[in-house]
Amino acid sequence: MTATVITGISVLVTNTPGGDGPLGEVTDAALVMEDGRVAWTGPSASAPAADEHVDAAGRCVLPGFVDSHSHVVFAGDRSREFAARMAGRPYAAGGIRTTVAATREASDEVLRATAARLVAEMHAQGSTTVEIKSGYGLTPADEARTLRIAGELTPETTFLGAHVVPPEFDGDARGYVDLVCGEMLRACAPYARWADVFCERGAFDGEQTREILTAAAAAGLTPRVHAGQLGEGPGVRIGVELGAASVDHCTFLTDADVAALAGSETVATLLPTIEFSTRQPYPDARRLIDAGVTVALATDCNPGSGYSSSMALAIALGVREMRMTTEEAVRAATLGGARALRRDDVGHLAPGARADVLMLDAPNPIYLAYRPGVPQVSAVWKDGHRLP
Ligand SMILES: [Zn+2]
Repeated sequence: MTATVITGISVLVTNTPGGDGPLGEVTDAALVMEDGRVAWTGPSASAPAADEHVDAAGRCVLPGFVDSHSHVVFAGDRSREFAARMAGRPYAAGGIRTTVAATREASDEVLRATAARLVAEMHAQGSTTVEIKSGYGLTPADEARTLRIAGELTPETTFLGAHVVPPEFDGDARGYVDLVCGEMLRACAPYARWADVFCERGAFDGEQTREILTAAAAAGLTPRVHAGQLGEGPGVRIGVELGAASVDHCTFLTDADVAALAGSETVATLLPTIEFSTRQPYPDARRLIDAGVTVALATDCNPGSGYSSSMALAIALGVREMRMTTEEAVRAATLGGARALRRDDVGHLAPGARADVLMLDAPNPIYLAYRPGVPQVSAVWKDGHRLP
């Protein structure tokens, strides 16, 4: 196997205690990748030789972003719904049904092509680990094929049959929850690592959330929860109670929710591109971080509430709108995402970590928030392979 050394790195973000500050920064650094793993990091002057040499020429290098929340297997177009929302119509959970109808109609090939294109777009922007949820099929067969397609693109697949109650179950939420916990879960569990519920008014209540996540856990799927996007609710506390890896959105939180998260292993995953695209108030990251909660940033890339796949935008919004420091936002987009997916091999660049590496056309990672909207990716390696 060939080894690659990157020298001349202005600032290397390691996210390990070996470096300086909250990001474990090493200046004038080098990094060696071998067999898909980080083999060595240290001062550029003492870098070992390798088969391939890349000169960073004063650029910074950080762990690839870990986008721990997306919904990129779907069909249809909701750009006009976005335009209508910007013209004054409020966001409601029911819009998901538009995508469900289009997704059910679509062939596997169409779904696969859309998802692959979006994952390639994420990779090109520096996201080297990506989670993908189902939730636009809402029948056992359509949820299972969504997860099969997602599983071709990432090991981080999440069963979200409880996204909304589909129209054929109008007035029979009980019947739909039974389907999700029974036949649908059996069809999907082989293809999913995680299970998620949209616990929100207009979607699923606390009792239903608990029932679905408990059934999913019995089938071997670790819980995650969508909670606190549109208002306060029971989702955060249920997630913590059931040992969820993360509770996602967390825009509307009670003091009890914050305290529950702070006393747990559950990560609060914040999705500010959604607030940007729905013109909702942003989550208060400062409140969570000050309380000791582990925070992740992710995109929630989806066709309805926010169709951005840019982790750099999430970082910029985290800093500008959510009172995060630049270091906190970069850490949340890398190590935070890894924690949200319970992965210890990504989100940092200690020797032994996956060689998922992002080089920016910038001297330090502050530029991610400092130059919002500007393409700054210079190169991306995933498992030690440079992406085209
Ligand atoms: Zn989501």
